Order: sequence, then C-alpha cells, then structure tokens
Amino acid sequence: MKTARLFLLFSLAVSGYAQTAASSKEVDAVYPAAQDLYIDLHQTPELSSHETQTASKLAARLRSLGYQVTEGVGGTGVVAILKNGAGPTVMLRTELDALPVEEKTGLSYASKVHTKDDSGRDVPVMHACGHDLHMASLVATADIMAHSKSSWHGTLMLIGQPAEETISGAKRMIDDGLFTRFPKPAVGIALHVGNYLPAGQVGITPGIYNTNADSLRITIYGKGGHGSAPQTAIDPIVIAARTILALQTIVSREVKPGEMAVVTVGYIRAGTKNNIIPDQAELGLTVRSYKADIRQQVLTAITRIAKAEAVAGGAQQETLIEHYESTDSVYNDPALAERLRAPLEAALGKQNVITTDPITPSEDYAFFVEQGIPSLYMSLGGADPQKYAESKKSGNLLRSNHSPYFAPDVDPALHSGIKAEVAVLRNLLNGAAQ
Ligand SMILES: [Zn+2]
Ligand SMILES: [Zn+2]
Repeated sequence: MKTARLFLLFSLAVSGYAQTAASSKEVDAVYPAAQDLYIDLHQTPELSSHETQTASKLAARLRSLGYQVTEGVGGTGVVAILKNGAGPTVMLRTELDALPVEEKTGLSYASKVHTKDDSGRDVPVMHACGHDLHMASLVATADIMAHSKSSWHGTLMLIGQPAEETISGAKRMIDDGLFTRFPKPAVGIALHVGNYLPAGQVGITPGIYNTNADSLRITIYGKGGHGSAPQTAIDPIVIAARTILALQTIVSREVKPGEMAVVTVGYIRAGTKNNIIPDQAELGLTVRSYKADIRQQVLTAITRIAKAEAVAGGAQQETLIEHYESTDSVYNDPALAERLRAPLEAALGKQNVITTDPITPSEDYAFFVEQGIPSLYMSLGGADPQKYAESKKSGNLLRSNHSPYFAPDVDPALHSGIKAEVAVLRNLLNGAAQ
C-alpha cells in the first residue's frame, strides 16, 4: 500500500504541470442542470438513512452519463464507476442526507417538507448542511469528466453516502463492501460548504482537518417522590445540575491550556410536573477534540465526574454512561494537500486558495481515511462575499451550517465546487497518461 501511494505521489509530481482546470465553456455547459438539480434537491430533503428519492435521482443522472451505477450500498448509498483506461482509482464523495430543521431562509425554493423521524415524531426537514450543493457539484463534475475522457486516465469512483449526520453511513458502506466489491481508491476527495469562507474560495488544511466526536448519554438514577417531601427521595435533577457544572471544569481545569477540547451538554431531560421528584435524569453530551490523548483524557474525566457526583448525591444505583456515536477526526494527507494546491490555484486563482485552520465540526469521512485511503477534504466557501466582509468588520458571525437560516451563495459556491473537483480529479488522474 505504502509503495503504491509513493508511486502515485511520484507520478503526480511528474504530471503536476498538466492542464487540469475546467474551461469556462465546460462549466457553462453543465451549470444550468446543476443549478436545477440543486433547487430540486433543496426542495425535497430526506432525513439520514431515508435518502431513497435523493439516491435514485443521483443514480439516474450518473447512469445517463455512462457511469456504472450500483444502488443500495450500505442502505441508500450510491456507487458510480467510470473506467477510462489504465491508471489509479480516485474516489469523490458526497453526502445525501438532510436535517430535522425548519427552514427559515425565506428563499423562493425553501423546503416545506415534514416527515416522521425514527421515533415517530413529526419533524421539518431541511438541507441545512449544504449536502444538496455537494450533490449538485458532484453530478456536474461527473458530467464534465464523462465528456472529457481524453483529459484523464484511470477509474473515477463517485459515491453518494447516506447518513452522514448520524455518523453511520460511511461505516455502513464500508461494511457492505465499498472497497471489496468495487475498486479500492488510491486517493479520496471530498469537500464541505460553509460560511467560514466567502463563496469563490477553497480552503486547504494539511494534517488534522476537523475534530474527533463522541456522543454520550448519561442516565442518573435517583429516587422519585413528592416534591413537598424531599427527605423521602433522592433528587436526580440536583445531581444532574451539579454534574453539568462539574463537567465544565474538565476543559478549564484539567486539559492543558492551548489544547482543543469541547464538552457540551446539549440536553437535559427529567421530570414531568413541578411537584414530583422524578426517578431519573438524562443528559446528552457532545465531546470534541483534535488529539487522541486529549480525547481519552476528557472521556475518562467525564466518567469519573458523572459517577462521583451520583455517589455524592446519595444515588443508590451507579450512573449509566452510554457512548452511542463516535468518529475520529479527518486527516488530510499533507503531501497530497500540497500537491493539489497548484491545480486548485490554476482553476480558481491563487488568491482563492487559502490555507485554513482545523474546524470543530466532525464528519464520518474519517472511516474512509482509516481504510487506508489518503485523502484531501476541502472547505468550500459558501458565504455571500459582501456579507462575509461585513461580518468580519462588525464581528457578528454569519449563520453556521445546521441553522434554519443557512443559505449558501449558490452561484459562486457551486461554480467553485465544480471547478475545484474537476481540477483535483484531472490532476490525480493524469499520472497514467504521461
Ligand atoms: Zn451537518
Ligand atoms: Zn455536512
């Protein structure tokens, strides 16, 4: 594997000067269809693991472009392969899923979709993370690549991954034979749109790109009773309150200053009525970190504090701590990131390719990297450039992904997404042509 990778990077060095940028004629030819697809997907979002219509739209488009398409990989996942002679296999990935968020952007094409979630609750649905833009970009890129087969050689592997927002789709695709039933890629590419950069720009982060994420559920067991007779009960709400505050001392008192760690209690659930002391209380946590040792330190401290606070409160049953979702941080291969800077600059302009700091959200793309796929995960600017400049000046931050107001500046963002993907793929797939 290591030799193959060195060879790939070496052959990239040889071909580094090949013309890889998509011409404006190529982009203009695919853009109207990409924009239509974006608007259609934006109006028909589907929740994680339920992306059936989304997946079939993607599959139909890619099939019509001549890709060999397999559906139902790891649930609703899509794999599309285009073989074009000898050369490496390069994977480009998009996510398929949307979020239970009620859209408040006021856009003419805002989502009005409601559905039942897995627990049967009625929820609104919105592409509040921009995965619709990633899909539109991927399909347009697929179109350009299929119509310019003399510009590259090798195998292009496009994947539509379900359930990114629940950190489960990448693993399910791998478990369903993503890298055994299909060619194993030598390199993987992905991007994510966000308001942390103005539309038109692309960010590269060599090394650690984002955070390790751990989701924890903590159940504190008390003893229920009458609200007027606390002496007969053990109040799990008071234990929960003390636990929440004590957890905040992990980052401030235990982690070395300068190291990155986040402990957020996102919900607390307990009780039904003001004069009843409930039996139990539940806390939901998200924990983020960049480094493996800090991650372990924080998780160990959470366990210690949660259990000890229950003992201090007189709980007769040990606190239950469930670790129900986790992913490692995405690691960008530094040599690959540096190799791909030149073609990105050629496609977007030198001033539009920025080196960015690691970000705090997380991603299950890490599962692909852990399968031995050296990768570059890029940041795609999504903010209206004027609003971005104003927000820099005023200090008022723009709405982030997952907000009901999240609305990327589609025209420049989608254009740059397509240009960035084509430039990177042609560069990676040019080696064999030399
Ligand atoms: Zn998201
Ligand atoms: Zn996302």
